[in-house]
Amino acid sequence: MDPIVKLIKELGNLPGVGEKTATRLAYHILRCNKDEALSLAAAIKDAKDRIGFCPECYNLTEDKGCVICANVKRDKSIVCVVEEPQDVTAIEKSGAFQGVYHVLHGAISPLDGVGPDEVRINELVARIGKGNIKEVIIATNPTTTGEVTSLYIAKVVKPLNVKLTRIAFGIPFGGDIEYVDRSTLARSIEFRSNITV
Ligand SMILES: [Zn+2]
Repeated sequence: MDPIVKLIKELGNLPGVGEKTATRLAYHILRCNKDEALSLAAAIKDAKDRIGFCPECYNLTEDKGCVICANVKRDKSIVCVVEEPQDVTAIEKSGAFQGVYHVLHGAISPLDGVGPDEVRINELVARIGKGNIKEVIIATNPTTTGEVTSLYIAKVVKPLNVKLTRIAFGIPFGGDIEYVDRSTLARSIEFRSNITV
């Protein structure tokens, strides 16, 4: 295959990159100096060589196990299930969670041909099966695919006798009810919680 065509094809396989953007990026790479282009190629190779999956939670990690799973202060009995490694980073930044994670690497999406076996749900079930987990918090996105995934996980985890919770979705802190969209507001009311005083 012609090297330019191949480069465009490879770039076009990246998520969110259409043919037009792929073409623009390919010509940018060809125009820039060789060191810059090879530095990009080296960064991709280095990341792929050195970063792997944590065998416990499937988060991306440079070592054999990730720092969260290796931390003795983290509560291993509470597992927060997320779609992507970026979600772990976001929740960690909140500082509100002291348990451990399970990264699915995607969400069930029948329209895109992604079934339960394509995301790491079997691994989650196996992990719970070891018997040390008390609660599973499902923190998939509040989207159609996130909801489908959440319901599927709930179905397969329920017989395993652990507490099952879903993160709350609603009005952003500092937000104004008047300007919150209808579905967010509906969910906020549906998933209202008790006030403890
Ligand atoms: Zn881990």
